[in-house]
Amino acid sequence: MGTIIDGKRISDNLKEEMKAQVVALERQYGRRPGLAVIIVGENPASQVYVRNKVRAAEFVGLRSVQVTLPESTPEADLLAQIRRLNEDPAIDGVLVQLPLPAHINEEKVIDTIALEKDVDGFHPGNVGALWLGKPCTLPCTPKGCLHLIQTTGIELRGALAVVIGRSNIVGKPMAKLLLDQHATVIMAHSRTRNLGELTRQADIIVAAVGKRNLVTADMVKPGAVVIDVGMNRDDEGHLCGDVDFAGVKEVAGFVTPVPGGVGPMTITMLIQNTLDSFIKRESKKQ
Ligand code: NAP
Repeated sequence: MGTIIDGKRISDNLKEEMKAQVVALERQYGRRPGLAVIIVGENPASQVYVRNKVRAAEFVGLRSVQVTLPESTPEADLLAQIRRLNEDPAIDGVLVQLPLPAHINEEKVIDTIALEKDVDGFHPGNVGALWLGKPCTLPCTPKGCLHLIQTTGIELRGALAVVIGRSNIVGKPMAKLLLDQHATVIMAHSRTRNLGELTRQADIIVAAVGKRNLVTADMVKPGAVVIDVGMNRDDEGHLCGDVDFAGVKEVAGFVTPVPGGVGPMTITMLIQNTLDSFIKRESKKQ
């Protein structure tokens, strides 16, 4: 049986380290890093994510601000809120929880967040910098996945990685991060033929699709590292990933569970990005 990568424990340890770091930063700079999270509407999943983000921010000692806006908020009002937070010297990170109500243009919203406060790493300035190999804020989920992969000790140089899913927030940046580690990367998506033939050769599989049981044991090479980003519900309504965990853990060398794998790491990377943003902003003042 493979080793289960305990994303919850790994992220708890990182948060403990960051908690101590926040104390030191406050002593050095006279203020705590600040994170603002904006939520528009009442999407239940979004409410859970925002609650978890705010809770993690408070745990590590950040100054955390939650802005809750009604579903009917005009786009202009949301943009004005973002601009206000962009200008607020006590705020180092601004995050707008996605998805947004249909009448609001997501692209416009992301573009309005100040590049230096884009702790989600979704701003075109950060995306461009990532693909050009320049310093940037990495998107939280792929950053967390890479961290989990690295905890296994696998040699990434020359490894074959198959990333399933090509979204802007997970699949594409994940592929680039693995490429930067000198892995050979295959990006699979809904039009990919014979997915199993590709994944069976892979040393690393990252599944970021949103379809239960997409990756089954027969698709996994013995000993491979399998990272499950997916978040789905099973027939009983329990949270599950894209990977058939029970079957795959018998074949894989390492596998992440859902829940308790990638999810907690995403939030922890958001906190890390906020600390990094704080440090960059404070060092510019010196
Ligand atoms: P998305 O934007 O819907 O993208 C899904 C991707 O999967 C698309 O690229 C799509 O291909 C591909 N796909 C669909 N069916 C496929 C199939 N049968 N075989 C191979 N590829 C297929 O989703 P996302 O935002 O990247 O999120 C993916 C999953 O991760 C969701 O379950 C989401 O809830 C979860 N998620 C989890 C976290 C976390 O922190 N744990 C964070 C973000 C997302 P096309 O491009 O061809 O349509």
